[in-house]
Amino acid sequence: MNSQIKLDINSDDVLENQYYISDIRKINDDYFMTHGIKMKFHVITYGCQMNEHDSEKMIAMLKNMGYEAVDAYKDADLIVFNTCAVRENAELRVFGNLGHVNHLKKTKKNLIVVVSGCMMQQPHIVKEIKEKYKFVDIVFGTHNVHNFPKLIKNVLQNQKQVIEVWDSEGHIIEGLPYERKLGLKAYVNIMFGCNNFCTYCIVPYTRGRERSREKEHILQEIKKLADDGVREITLLGQNVNSYGKTFDIPYNFADLLTDVSKIDGIKRIRFMTSHPKDLSDQLINVIAENKKVCEYVHLPIQTGSNSVLKRMNRKYTKENYMEIVNKLKDKIPNLTLSTDLIIGFPGETDADNDETIELIKEIEFDAAFTFIYSKREGTPAAKLEDSIPEDIQHLRFNKVLTVINNIIKEKNAKRLGNVYEVLVEGRANRDDSYLIGRSRENFLITFKGSDDLIGELVDVKITRPKNFSLEGEIINTPV
Ligand code: SF4
Repeated sequence: MNSQIKLDINSDDVLENQYYISDIRKINDDYFMTHGIKMKFHVITYGCQMNEHDSEKMIAMLKNMGYEAVDAYKDADLIVFNTCAVRENAELRVFGNLGHVNHLKKTKKNLIVVVSGCMMQQPHIVKEIKEKYKFVDIVFGTHNVHNFPKLIKNVLQNQKQVIEVWDSEGHIIEGLPYERKLGLKAYVNIMFGCNNFCTYCIVPYTRGRERSREKEHILQEIKKLADDGVREITLLGQNVNSYGKTFDIPYNFADLLTDVSKIDGIKRIRFMTSHPKDLSDQLINVIAENKKVCEYVHLPIQTGSNSVLKRMNRKYTKENYMEIVNKLKDKIPNLTLSTDLIIGFPGETDADNDETIELIKEIEFDAAFTFIYSKREGTPAAKLEDSIPEDIQHLRFNKVLTVINNIIKEKNAKRLGNVYEVLVEGRANRDDSYLIGRSRENFLITFKGSDDLIGELVDVKITRPKNFSLEGEIINTPV
């Protein structure tokens, strides 16, 4: 592991890796000429959109190196596990899958096994791989994606495990090619890392401090996506509301939303995630007034108890949160609001959980992503005493979930007869005569219609509200 390296990533790094890409391509082309078969790869991605995007970059590099994608990992000559450290479950799955690959490696000696992503930013994980998973060929972290070709070349040359994990971020590297599955919708990273240090979260340690991409790079990427037929953009960051804070010339997230909305071809703009402490009045006004920005905000509260919020280091109180929600609802009458909740944080009492339930009832969220707290090594919360027994965590979780589900069902029932503008995304799986799409408010809506509507905005009247989705009929198609 090289943790002392002086970080000065620039276009030279990209150029150097171009050299390795050509080199490996030559090796793979020679293999094809001799054996008549192409070298193949398979990438398994865990976790969030940030990881998805890193995988897109790796896939583009692999294809440039002459590898061909395969659906089954058993058929691959190079397997990548791009890992996530946020939840314990994903971590266990990675180790389970590595066990399967170990068997494969015994019969396929030249198989290259790669493990990358957030898990690798944790020294105890890298140590475990070094000691117990010696068959893994390449280990690299979230700040080393641009060096992927160099690491492959190293393994091809030396047949030894290589590990490259920088423990702090460099400049943002622009100009890496990436392979994106193009459709109507695309995610665009506008920033990386996080400065908030919520005590339960590993992200500031695995993704580093906050860095915003230059607006010119973002706008250029979105223009290209629009030219390629993308109609809806979701701007991504751990905390999009603090976009631009490090720029010399003032330019913030609300300014970026306004500039993105001027791009021809883009019909809708979404964003996530918003930290409540940074959501500005300027941003609320842009959501309220800009026709392309959807009236949907994902605003994680995590808990309704001020004492738990303090231990989580969330830097707001439930009263601050309510104030923002009231402002949002005042300015944006058809606002849809979703949130994240963590149940069973160390020291949480039954009374704290009741406060969370009260808050959910008061706000009436339209969706909530609810998780049972699980300890992540390397975070401050992992050292907190008073952990909550699993059975109590589950009891509290079920109570919260029942309340949320009832609210969502009741709110959906009231949507009967409402008309929503829907971006038609494709065929609904369950029935070929149905199309599926999302409204500006992010409701999933199915309705009957023909293929030529895919990619269009249509008005749909709700005829059958269901518990967690809506069914309707088209009342207005594009001219
Ligand atoms: S805001 Fe908190 S929860 Fe979100 S990424 Fe940053 S530290 Fe993690």
